[in-house]
Amino acid sequence: MIKNLEQLKRLISHDIGIDLGTANTLVYIRGKGIVINEPSVVAVNQKTNQVVAVGTDAKNMLGRTPGHIIAVRPLVDGVISDFEVTEEMITYFLNKAQTGNRKLLGPRVVVGVPSGITNVEIRAVRDACRNAGASEVHIVEEPMAAAIGLRLPVLEPVGSMIIDIGGGTSDIAVISLGGVVRSKNLRIAGDKLNNDIISYIRSEFKILIGEKTAENIKISIGAIVAGQTPLEAPIKGRDLISGLPREVVVTDSDIREAISQSINTLIDSTKEVLETTPPEIVSDVMARGIYLSGGGALIVGLAEIISEYTKIPVHIASDPLTAVCRGTGIILENMEKYKDVLIANENDLPPKK
Ligand code: ADP
Ligand code: MG
Repeated sequence: MIKNLEQLKRLISHDIGIDLGTANTLVYIRGKGIVINEPSVVAVNQKTNQVVAVGTDAKNMLGRTPGHIIAVRPLVDGVISDFEVTEEMITYFLNKAQTGNRKLLGPRVVVGVPSGITNVEIRAVRDACRNAGASEVHIVEEPMAAAIGLRLPVLEPVGSMIIDIGGGTSDIAVISLGGVVRSKNLRIAGDKLNNDIISYIRSEFKILIGEKTAENIKISIGAIVAGQTPLEAPIKGRDLISGLPREVVVTDSDIREAISQSINTLIDSTKEVLETTPPEIVSDVMARGIYLSGGGALIVGLAEIISEYTKIPVHIASDPLTAVCRGTGIILENMEKYKDVLIANENDLPPKK
């Protein structure tokens, strides 16, 4: 029986889960699944201050815009560097995700935000969702959402460890009884690896390549452990001396060399988190393994090397890029059960380190 209007609204409105990632934003609608999966990029016309494009269309403009149009990634460092643009982006995706009259019914929204976000930033996310029509806004930190997306037993008195490697930031978190027991948020993630590759190619081959080229090469031949046969790929860039275009062939071993320092830092940080985690929980993690999520989980050989250095089995999440969004969906559908994992209000957030 439907008791009141509130309940009726709940039944027919679009409840929405959002993964507000530094590289990609995903939107989940209750009953439908993931309906939006686009880059967190906004193109702005600086002359008029108007948003020209959002998401995939805007990403295609990155590095290719005329002077007065800039393509920005408003969450690029894992923190909201540009409130206004972030709000425009959230509004755009929320409107795109909802159809017809249901828009009027004020959806309940669960947003996954990078851990380490400040109270001011949380308020900005909340306001943006409210302005876009949300009736309730609940916020969850991304590593928690990812763990829920992987169906780890986060509410039980059992330690779970997750490493979420995104574009701007990586989160290393140990979770038990619905809370984060230990965590570390670092700026070493996909973007840093792209920059490592750009620097390496510049110093070794004396050519300048763009971010997109670096990312493509990372994804196509990047591997932390050498395979049976070497991988290679041609890349085009601008010769630093002649200024003219030049093509060189790079190998997986070049990429390995380029990103090795960053990977070492990631491993050291993982060890640091483990070293300060209470022993009972460490023993749970040793038995159950460490889970990798986010796009960085797909780096070939990363799971193996983390396992080698920590002596703990490491599992790659299935479909790691959607883990956080799936988690927000599971929270939406079981709000009562997961209420304690939400950041209930702005003041409940841990201070920024
Ligand atoms: P965020 O949560 O910060 O939005 P994502 O989890 O969506 O980030 O991951 C995006 C990052 O993952 C990008 O830096 C991208 O280059 C990287 N990535 C995606 N696929 C792969 C792959 N197969 N190998 C290595 N890195 C990848
Ligand atoms: Mg993410």
